[in-house]
Formats: sequence, structure tokens, C-alpha cells
Amino acid sequence: MALVTAPPLTGSSPGYNGFMRPLSSRRMLVAGVLALGLTAACGAPVPPPPPAPAPPPPSPVLSFEAPYAFGTPQAKIPPPDHGLIPVVKRIHTDKPYVFITIDDGQVPHPAALDLMRRSKTRPTLFLTDRYVEGHRGYFKDLRDQAGATIENHTLSHPNLRGKPYEVQHKEICGASDAYQREYGKRPVLFRPPYGNYDDTTRKAAADCGVRALVLWTETVNDGAMQFQSGTKLKPGDIILMHFRKTFVEDYSAFLAKAKEDGMIPVPLEDFLSA
Ligand SMILES: [Zn+2]
Repeated sequence: MALVTAPPLTGSSPGYNGFMRPLSSRRMLVAGVLALGLTAACGAPVPPPPPAPAPPPPSPVLSFEAPYAFGTPQAKIPPPDHGLIPVVKRIHTDKPYVFITIDDGQVPHPAALDLMRRSKTRPTLFLTDRYVEGHRGYFKDLRDQAGATIENHTLSHPNLRGKPYEVQHKEICGASDAYQREYGKRPVLFRPPYGNYDDTTRKAAADCGVRALVLWTETVNDGAMQFQSGTKLKPGDIILMHFRKTFVEDYSAFLAKAKEDGMIPVPLEDFLSA
């Protein structure tokens, strides 16, 4: 009953009552003050201020509907090769799926979380602990709020090829230990800095709990996709980009090319499940 008889919000209807009067008085007072202000301003005319710059329009973000429930294993890591962990350059699939990976972590770009969430993509982050240090919460948010996965890209980003086992083991295990400690999950994938590795790398990585060494097929730099061959993304492509100042341009270029070529970005870990 009370709801039915409550006074309407407009003052002009028959329901108007004293409830509104204080507001009207205040409105008159405000009008008076404004008038005084205008009078004062008229004494010293000033040129009209330049129009305020229009705020940038909310940039559209391409998004992709998940073709299956992300987090559901779709394929297993290839078996070890003569006792060494497999080297994965592309994923073997006949489905229109591609895989975005983001390396290093040097520039923790503030727009990354929003881009990942709005595009409904779940990249794999191959992080170097030297860059993660001091920004652990940033990468945790990308994992917890966007579904990104944190994997291993060494402690300090050296060229591992040719280095003694002890050096390689320390670089790989050090990062795995740190991410396990900080994020509660030990990396299963490893990307060697510069893509350089040898059999010692594969042995050391295995001893650190890594199950596959992951390279890439295409890259994104300065807001443009770069192809090793051809001009189109193909099923199974693994794309490499970095946490740089151009993060928005790079990620957007990848999303646009995936859309153009009819590809859907899906999580790499689903196709390299342990
Ligand atoms: Zn790197």
C-alpha cells in the first residue's frame, strides 16, 4: 500500500506536497548566486575557453567465443624424445586454433588485463623472474582475473646454448622455484631466451619439472604481425609477443589478424596438457 501512495518524483503532479519545498528554495538561492557571479564576470570579459578535447572513444576490442570449455585438456604433451623433453614449435591440430604467448614481462602494461578479459583470450606468459620481481601482483592478476598461465623463461634471460648444465639448471629451476613459491603452481612449459637451446637445456629443464620446450611460429612487433612464411595465421600457430610499451597495439594486431584469418585463440596449456 505504501508503495502505491508514495509521492511521484516529479513536482508537477497532484501528488506534489511540502516534501519538495526545501529543494525549490535552495534552487532559487543557487540561481541568485549564479546571477551575482555572472554580473561580476561581465565587468571583465574574457574570451570563451577553447572547447575541451573530446575524450577518446572506448576502443572496440575484438572478442572470441570459446569453442570449448577452456581449461579442458584437448591434447597431451608429446612424449620425451630419447629421454629429452620435446621441442614444440607448433601445435598439431586441424581446428582453426592459434596460441598467443607473451614473453619476458619487462613492461607491466596497465591495459593488458582489460584487453585479455574483453577479448576472452587466455595467453601463456613466459616470464623472466628478473622482470617479474616487484610486479608479482600484476602477473597474478592476469592469471586470476584473465585466465593467463604463468610459465618459465629463466631467472635472468641469458643465452643458454652452450652453457654448462649447472648454469642452465640454476636459470630454469630458479624461475620454476620462484613461480611455485609465489603463484602456487610449478611451470610445466619452458621457453629458452632468444629461442636458443641445446640438449643440456632439455635435460636441465626436465630435471626442473618442465615437460616441454616451446618455441613459436610467428611474432608481433610494433603493432604488426610478422610471418616466417606466408601472410596468414594457420591452425596450430604459436604467436610470440612481449610485454612492451606497444602492448595494446601488438595484442590488438594479433586479435585482428586472428579474426581476419578465421582463427580462434585458445589456451596453449589445453593442447600441452601434462
Ligand atoms: Zn625473452
